[in-house]
Amino acid sequence: MSFKNEPLTDFSIAANRAAFQEALARLRSSLGRKIPLLIGSQQILPHQWMPRRNPSHPNELVGLIARAESIHTDQVLAQAESAFPAWRRVPLPERAAILQRAARRLRERRFELAAWEVMEVGKNWVEADADVAEAIDYLHYYADQMLQLQDQAPLAQVPGERNLYRREPLGPGVVISPWNFPLAILTGMTAAALITGNCVILKPAEQSSIVAFHLAQILRESGVPPGALQFLSGMGKEIGEALVRSEKIRWIAFTGSREVGLKILHTASELAPTQGFVKRVIAEMGGKNAILIDQDADLDEAVLGVAASAFGYSGQKCSACSRVIALRPILERFLDRLIQTTQSLPIGNGEDPSTVIGPLVDEAAKEKVLRFIEIGKSEGRLAFQGTLPAGLQGFFVPPAIFTDVKPENKIAREEIFGPVLAVMAADSFEEALEIANNVPYALTGGLYSRSPRHIEQAAEEFRVGNLYINRKITGAVVGRQPFGGLRLSGIGYKAGGPDYLLQFLQARTITENTTRHGF
Ligand code: NAD
Repeated sequence: MSFKNEPLTDFSIAANRAAFQEALARLRSSLGRKIPLLIGSQQILPHQWMPRRNPSHPNELVGLIARAESIHTDQVLAQAESAFPAWRRVPLPERAAILQRAARRLRERRFELAAWEVMEVGKNWVEADADVAEAIDYLHYYADQMLQLQDQAPLAQVPGERNLYRREPLGPGVVISPWNFPLAILTGMTAAALITGNCVILKPAEQSSIVAFHLAQILRESGVPPGALQFLSGMGKEIGEALVRSEKIRWIAFTGSREVGLKILHTASELAPTQGFVKRVIAEMGGKNAILIDQDADLDEAVLGVAASAFGYSGQKCSACSRVIALRPILERFLDRLIQTTQSLPIGNGEDPSTVIGPLVDEAAKEKVLRFIEIGKSEGRLAFQGTLPAGLQGFFVPPAIFTDVKPENKIAREEIFGPVLAVMAADSFEEALEIANNVPYALTGGLYSRSPRHIEQAAEEFRVGNLYINRKITGAVVGRQPFGGLRLSGIGYKAGGPDYLLQFLQARTITENTTRHGF
């Protein structure tokens, strides 16, 4: 396999810092523009617009996003349907070349796209850069994977019989993405659908539609025909739901919250009167991820790993750590050091290169996290709450660490999606594992331990989609740590892994009797 991960930008190099500053400055001069819909080969300016504000400076209008209506969903569906027969027949090497071209364009525009992420969803430099790198990885990885899949000859052959196994695309479908990895997740789902020959309607999250629009444009400039890739921004509850319901939609690739994922699964299972197929749904959902701190853990490493996992991007990652389960004898020592480390994490605007903890994505997210902090105060003991530097205007919530939390408490069971950490004590390693597993989510998990027996036991019994041992639990890398959850965290094959593409395909077996019977 020729695939190699895209390197991350080294911001200790002055030229890289200067280039990123320049990208931010350039972008500031183009804020506030209208972001249209892309339907067939037309750019459509609808009647309604959704203002997108910079989460670090809510007074700053980043762009006006088109709010699609039902007439637009009808149009994209018609276009996708008519584009499918031609797009599915484009030879695979050509489709792969298109994705590779798109990857090159993303690389050329890397700082500009990362700067959009800083402005639109409040990422810091490093996180924004990593998201663009991951998007580039997906384009290359899935192109490579599909070429390999095509070369496989999976069937047994016997004399007198010819068996063919044909993997085929499903048809038009919709990609519904979250805002927290605005480019990577969207690119991953879209690239997988396109390389397998499906037509894609992109329905991005309301909060990250500008970044998504740039991806759609790049894919089209790289050669994806207009009907095979369309861009429809708007409200999830309106056009998202209408697309999921449509009998022209053959599949839905969704990443987002459990609530919406389950709703999509339900809606997609209802058969429209003339619908002659069952929709396929890929749903990657939330998490309530735990890190276990064993009695003999290297606390230097554990403290850094937990702080990075819990508070990176202000805890707004599906993989983020929101529970720590520490063995009682080391809990206080661990907690003291974690508090000191957390205290030292710089809080600031996304544009500030020193920022580690940036804003939450919008006012609603801030209100939700503040509500959970109040719940936490009634359930456990607030061991630490950071203070915001003066002058910040955005949707900031300083990190909070609760201790004396019980496994049945709300803050130990519900996904908060903010910088809030619940610390719990366990009297034995077995009890720690039991607490860790005893939530309905099973996305990521971690263990800090020096005990080979406990490492082995966790590998066996800590049943999450991605388990990390003696390292942080965020930052899965395409092709190295295929990503995705179990139980209520998801139902798909892992993103960035060898099975992912199969979900966008259906197979036909064709058997021919090749012994001649007189013709
Ligand atoms: P969300 O569920 O609110 O929205 C996700 C998408 O669904 C958006 O595009 C939204 O417009 C759309 N949507 C909303 N209602 C809809 C409906 N009724 N029908 C169709 N579409 C609808 O999630 P979010 O706030 O964007 O993202 C955060 C969530 O995503 C967290 O729960 C996080 O854990 C999860 N997430 C999971 C993964 C993973 O790989 N498992 C990765 C990233 C984020």
